[in-house]
Amino acid sequence: MLDVDGLRKTYSGRGREVEAVRDLTFRLGEGELACLVGPSGCGKTTLLKCVSGLMRPTAGTVALDGRPVTGPPPDMAVVFQEYGRSLFPWLTVRGNVELPLKEKRLPKARRRELVDGALEAVGLAHAGARHPWELSGGMQQRVAIARAIAYEPRVLLMDEPFAAVDAQTRADLEDLIRGLWKRFSMTVLFVTHDIDEAVYLGQRVIVLSASPTVVQDDVRVDLPDERDQLTTRSAPRFAELRAQVYREIQTAKNGGGPSGADGAGTGGAEADGAADPDDPEADKGTGGADGPERTPTTTGGPR
Ligand code: ADP
Ligand code: MG
Repeated sequence: MLDVDGLRKTYSGRGREVEAVRDLTFRLGEGELACLVGPSGCGKTTLLKCVSGLMRPTAGTVALDGRPVTGPPPDMAVVFQEYGRSLFPWLTVRGNVELPLKEKRLPKARRRELVDGALEAVGLAHAGARHPWELSGGMQQRVAIARAIAYEPRVLLMDEPFAAVDAQTRADLEDLIRGLWKRFSMTVLFVTHDIDEAVYLGQRVIVLSASPTVVQDDVRVDLPDERDQLTTRSAPRFAELRAQVYREIQTAKNGGGPSGADGAGTGGAEADGAADPDDPEADKGTGGADGPERTPTTTGGPR
């Protein structure tokens, strides 16, 4: 249903070229939940922006049900890491969730129904009248998820959505995503730099190489469909899978993917500080990031 074929993206400007993504090809089946991991700076956000039609690739194509994606498709929703910047502070929680539905020109009664359903689904039925700034980080991210769900997307893209919340909240949100995925039968592409998270969540983990980026490996997660934080994470098979993905990432970081890592301005694996040069505010809203890999990447916000 979602086909990424030969995707390449080169940023140019200020007299130099950065090849963020070299050649990515993969396919997601209808209703699949795939996680995408790769070293910081390898082009995960770039890929999601191309897949969601927010940015045109330099070469290659993205297609949804065989139709080329040339702008944001109506049945796709994106959740970014920086909920702080993706919610409008002057709108209530309800207002934020309802906004895209207004843009979709849905009638009022239907909007109310969808907002109620989405807030209930993320456990925020009680918080509709509050404002984002009155909520904790985890609750704000739930609002962003509710907004995406209310939109009734067939495809949900998420870009390191839990990188800035504490570990307990993160575990809850992971379970929430699996629950919502099952309940709404969406196709989900979930980007994370957290290997455990990728294995816990996904039916499949697509491992990207360091920049210039290609698909390094595609690991099927053959864990039982019923997952829970305690049992699943302590299963021997979970440990094997995370070790396998870990090894792939190490190989990717050490340039084991494509030979001759050229052109990548910030140098692939350790490109941690690779804040979007287009985005002077990229650092905001990631306060309290819990991992060493704090990646102040991009949001779909202003551009
Ligand atoms: P990731 O999300 O995997 O951390 P990104 O997609 O944000 O990686 O970035 C991939 C590479 O492209 C990095 O080297 C980054 O510096 C570069 N890059 C990202 N956005 C831009 C941009 N707007 N202009 C120039 N280079 C960019
Ligand atoms: Mg990113």
